[in-house]
Amino acid sequence: TNGTNITIRANVDIPEAYDLAQLFGGEGIGLFRSESLIANPGNIPSEESQCTAYRQIAEIAGDAGVKIRTFDIGIDQLGDGGFSTERNPSLGLRSIRLSLTDTAHFRTQIRAILRAAHEKRVDIILPMISGVEEVIRSRAIIDEERERLSRERSYFGNVGIGAMIEVPSAVLTIEEIAANVDFVCLGTNDLVQYLLAVDRDNDAVADWYQTLHPAVIRALSDVFAAAAYSNIPVIVCGEMAGSSFYIPLLIGLGPRDLSMNPNSIPQARRVVSGISLRETKKLAANVRGCTTAEAAERILREYYLENWAHLFQPGLLAAKHR
Ligand code: PEP
Ligand code: MG
Repeated sequence: TNGTNITIRANVDIPEAYDLAQLFGGEGIGLFRSESLIANPGNIPSEESQCTAYRQIAEIAGDAGVKIRTFDIGIDQLGDGGFSTERNPSLGLRSIRLSLTDTAHFRTQIRAILRAAHEKRVDIILPMISGVEEVIRSRAIIDEERERLSRERSYFGNVGIGAMIEVPSAVLTIEEIAANVDFVCLGTNDLVQYLLAVDRDNDAVADWYQTLHPAVIRALSDVFAAAAYSNIPVIVCGEMAGSSFYIPLLIGLGPRDLSMNPNSIPQARRVVSGISLRETKKLAANVRGCTTAEAAERILREYYLENWAHLFQPGLLAAKHR
């Protein structure tokens, strides 16, 4: 994009997948979903085994670094039993809520990450943040574990701390959150789900899962504006970031950092290098004026067909992308 650098990172859970990402020109790991280390419910890896896994992933990510998201799991994944089944697990005791309730597991994980960060570039992402209070409580725990490691004379490293923005209340309080973190990650998969009250895994409501819904576009714009004001980076790491149909729009809205499945990288790079920032800004302004997802989709499709058809894979512009 004419002189503006867009960083393309990889969402990687198994080290081998990063080979492919690097081959495709990905720079670092923008999202490591640490719950991938939990082979089955209740089987939470020890501090040592987590530390080894984080060190390995940090090693291969190299100077571009890895952003490790703390366990984004439901209470069922702890496998302790004794908890009644939740009626609404996606609104339940999960993710950062579980970490702040069952702090023993959280502290173990934090220590493993801090130790793995010794002489490596590692950041922590806090998932499902709903307001600044969870950020403050998490940071206090991270500080305590850092002090403990220091007292024990263990090796550890510096980490940046970021919040996953995927809950509507986090969008509405983004100024406060942005003032208390080093970066934010936009989890568009959950943001669309929670903002529009549409189960992301329920085919019956797939038509209501609209990435281009005006509420989503406004939420994204607000997050980008607040991050720019606080001078912190935004990494977009939901599926939206890896879909070439949405990439020009995203770039026009603001972010310079996208993290995606390794397989999406070649196509994303092709699109990113073929568009101009000025045009994406115009396009984003037009989409911001749309009152429906359908209208936004039409604007994007028509613009792509007229100007950038050569950048997209055959068939992509014919498919539905709401
Ligand atoms: C998201 O919610 O967009 C995200 C990146 O995380 P996950 O898909 O793991 O919830
Ligand atoms: Mg999520």
